[in-house]
Amino acid sequence: MFQQSKEPELMQKIVSLCKRRGFVFQSSEIYGGLRSAYDYGPMGVELKRNLMNEWWTAMVHSREDMVGIESSIIMHSDVWKASGHLANFKDPLVDCLVCQERFRADKAPKVTVGSECVIELGDKGRAKLALAKLVDAGESGLERTGKTLRGAVAADRGYVCPNCGSPYLSPERDFSGMFRTSLGPVDPIQGVIEAVQRGVQEGLDEKALRELAEEALSGSAVYLRPETAQGMFVQFLNVQQSQSIKVPFGIAQMGKSFRNEITVEHFIFRSCEFEQMEMEYFCPPGEGPKYLEYWKEQRLAWWQSIGLSPERLRFRPHGEEELAHYSDGCFDVEYEFPWGWDELEGIASRTDYDLNAHMRGSGKKLHYFDPEATDPDTGKPGWRYVPHVVEPAAGATRGVLAVLCNAYSEELDSDGNVSRTVLQLHPRLAPYKAGVLPLVKKDERLVRRGRDIAERFLAEGIAAKYDEQHTIGKRYARHDEIGTPYCLTVDSDTLEDDTVTIRYRDDKRQERIKIDEVADVVREALRTGKI
Ligand code: ATP
Repeated sequence: MFQQSKEPELMQKIVSLCKRRGFVFQSSEIYGGLRSAYDYGPMGVELKRNLMNEWWTAMVHSREDMVGIESSIIMHSDVWKASGHLANFKDPLVDCLVCQERFRADKAPKVTVGSECVIELGDKGRAKLALAKLVDAGESGLERTGKTLRGAVAADRGYVCPNCGSPYLSPERDFSGMFRTSLGPVDPIQGVIEAVQRGVQEGLDEKALRELAEEALSGSAVYLRPETAQGMFVQFLNVQQSQSIKVPFGIAQMGKSFRNEITVEHFIFRSCEFEQMEMEYFCPPGEGPKYLEYWKEQRLAWWQSIGLSPERLRFRPHGEEELAHYSDGCFDVEYEFPWGWDELEGIASRTDYDLNAHMRGSGKKLHYFDPEATDPDTGKPGWRYVPHVVEPAAGATRGVLAVLCNAYSEELDSDGNVSRTVLQLHPRLAPYKAGVLPLVKKDERLVRRGRDIAERFLAEGIAAKYDEQHTIGKRYARHDEIGTPYCLTVDSDTLEDDTVTIRYRDDKRQERIKIDEVADVVREALRTGKI
């Protein structure tokens, strides 16, 4: 019987398996680790690439109305001015005055204004100290029991600290999510020093000095992209004209994006450097809502096709208040992570906002001319218009986490103890499709035969792993934990009759099978997803 543990135990177990088996490591770990950056180990890079290749195959290779691009991570700063990112890609940052947690106001737990808030601190000592500070600051009506403070009232912010539940918070201030750097051989710091020195001599205040410093930086400032999408908008015309492709069509891109996140959370779910899989679907005006529906269904079906359980996937429509002013519909695809439902992908109908913004910003025309359509305004043949866009924007690294959470399972023995851990990955995502294990490594003939079988798989493009280290039981356990669908044991009978024992990952079933038939078994599993 398989079971899944509950959060936070489950997340701890997944993080530990990721390190133990080489999926994900903390970045710069030997130097103490870098907050919010992760390295993908030998198993993780295979899993991530397999997932991204699946996306590329579904979105680009299997469609006539789609092409791909790879745009640069550093783009002209005017791109970000025109797209609105420089002005708006900011998060409201707040500090908790009780536990000092720094968090994003828009992601904090919501509470009803005027309701009672229960503040939970780490221990009694901290609770005592916090109460004394609050009383000193003039708060009344608070009572402490152990590490809990009661009697606080939710202020009109309507949210509380995600760490301790306190409604005592600093004012919100803007925090830019864009990583700024500078391009070119100029030392921007020198310019800042000179500008600030000038400002000080003129007696300018702090705000004015800051503006001077910003201005001195702006000449060489460039930004790491916080999304891949703008690459598709600014290259819309080049792509359309060079490929002579007709609207409706899509441009897809996968790659790195960077956000200076205030709160990094849940392992690779939210990190500062991550990968996205985004597509902009350009369609005639008025057809956005139709394609929004279409892409919603396509994308949900895709997440299911790579093995995510249908009951752990749902759509969350964006309400009026959440919807961008230009958007006429937006849905998140949410996955039920161990901590609850959370976003995996956003699918938005963005009207003609983005292309219009870049036309204004660049002064270049980004129209499409359809000679076969009738202009709805003039009734004449030929229609020139700015295409509307539907955008499915998914997280690749977040997708990897969803896949890991979905696949992680523990088998229990009759006493209810965990007897084995299995990553029930879809065969197409599994780093290795087959492990080839000689029963004893001391027998030179088995070793040679095993290596030979593994090489034959590799030559056929099937990722197989020859593995002779440790006992056969330990090797099975290792392959279960990295999600290898099949283990093939080579023994003395193999030398006689060209058969191996095939062990199926999920039910541990074992069968004798001709070596020549194994590749077909693997191919069938890759095709159907069934082991
Ligand atoms: P969130 O609300 O979680 O911050 P978002 O709505 O800002 O995400 P989008 O701008 O729509 O995200 O980006 C598209 C996708 O990129 C998201 O659905 C998510 O899967 C992924 N993504 C966004 N930010 C991060 C991040 N910091 N780390 C990992 N993946 C991310």
